[in-house]
Amino acid sequence: GIKCGIVGLPNVGKSTLFNALTKAGIAAANFPFCTIEPNVGVVPVPDPRLNALAEIVKPQKVLPTAVEFVDIAGLVAGAASGEGLGNKFLAHIREVDAITHVVRCFEHGDIVHVSGKVDPIADIETIDTELALADLESVDKSIARYERVAKSGDKDAKARIEVLQKLRAALDEGRAARTVELDEDERGLLRELFLLTLKPVMYVANVLEDGFEDNPHLDAVRARAAREGAEVVPVSAAIEEEFSQLDDADRDEFLASIGLEEPGLNRVIRAAYKLLGLQTYFTAGVKEVRAWTVKAGSTAPQAAAVIHTDFEKGFIRAETIGYDDFIKYRGEAGARDAGRLRLEGKEYRVQEGDVLHFRFNV
Ligand code: GDP
Repeated sequence: GIKCGIVGLPNVGKSTLFNALTKAGIAAANFPFCTIEPNVGVVPVPDPRLNALAEIVKPQKVLPTAVEFVDIAGLVAGAASGEGLGNKFLAHIREVDAITHVVRCFEHGDIVHVSGKVDPIADIETIDTELALADLESVDKSIARYERVAKSGDKDAKARIEVLQKLRAALDEGRAARTVELDEDERGLLRELFLLTLKPVMYVANVLEDGFEDNPHLDAVRARAAREGAEVVPVSAAIEEEFSQLDDADRDEFLASIGLEEPGLNRVIRAAYKLLGLQTYFTAGVKEVRAWTVKAGSTAPQAAAVIHTDFEKGFIRAETIGYDDFIKYRGEAGARDAGRLRLEGKEYRVQEGDVLHFRFNV
């Protein structure tokens, strides 16, 4: 599956956030295609469009799509040089597609901060330095390897070394690989290195109940993220965990009492979904209305493969209705009558929110 790793220094609220996420809704057992590990949470993606579709289609079941979060605990200063359980954790980060970086933006006498002082920017830099150092090591090894190959006149090796040198300069200054401008070809050459700092990042700023406004720690994180072009989601992990333990009946009351329309976790989940470069399409039959996840830019057959590989192999066409049309014309029949049902072929790139019905040979 496509995974988002949760990283951060100890005691910033990672486990609290992860627990809240994994308790947030549907039991992971409803997602049989996912391997369940204790540090992996399969989290349904909240999507009001599903309810709107269900109101029209009146299906027996409504199924959201899901994102996977991985709790990567134990990252500390010195990890890249083997401090703590260092390298093991870095290896876990290698396997994820994007990173949710939790930073502590609250003061609390009882909860010790590892470096003795709440300073989210210093925390971000500590983690970034570890990741950049680990990448620097990978890049140096790779340069050495390709230099041996290049001696025999291998052109490909020379191109690789050039890209690696470009990255090396940035990493050496403690900058993330993602800050280096790279074209598609260059990215392709780098894929085999699974660089940590090339992965997209968002920040979850963990605050106290009264810490959403007038919070200099939060402001500092926002300013830093703005420079990086990264998203910040402020959230109170403790409140979210409390919320996740409530029955449905008590949830609305709880939200009203803290003046929110939806739990903060929804924003975390949606931001992660966007960060992972994912998009949603729907199937809307009377048996079930369901959201499916594809990588942004997927073709119709690739989207069909998410349901079943046979759908891709025998793909003929996708009967396609844009989400807005489906709602406006109150379902498939209405959209067809209005001439808003399109027959799309193999080359069609699925659009966000498309309601699809695949035709295929078995
Ligand atoms: P981790 O080491 O990053 O996984 O941090 P934990 O999730 O274990 O949190 C460390 C401590 O901070 C625990 O005692 C949590 O209960 C507490 N904590 C985490 N988030 C919040 C929060 O938003 N508010 C308050 N009051 N405590 C929090």
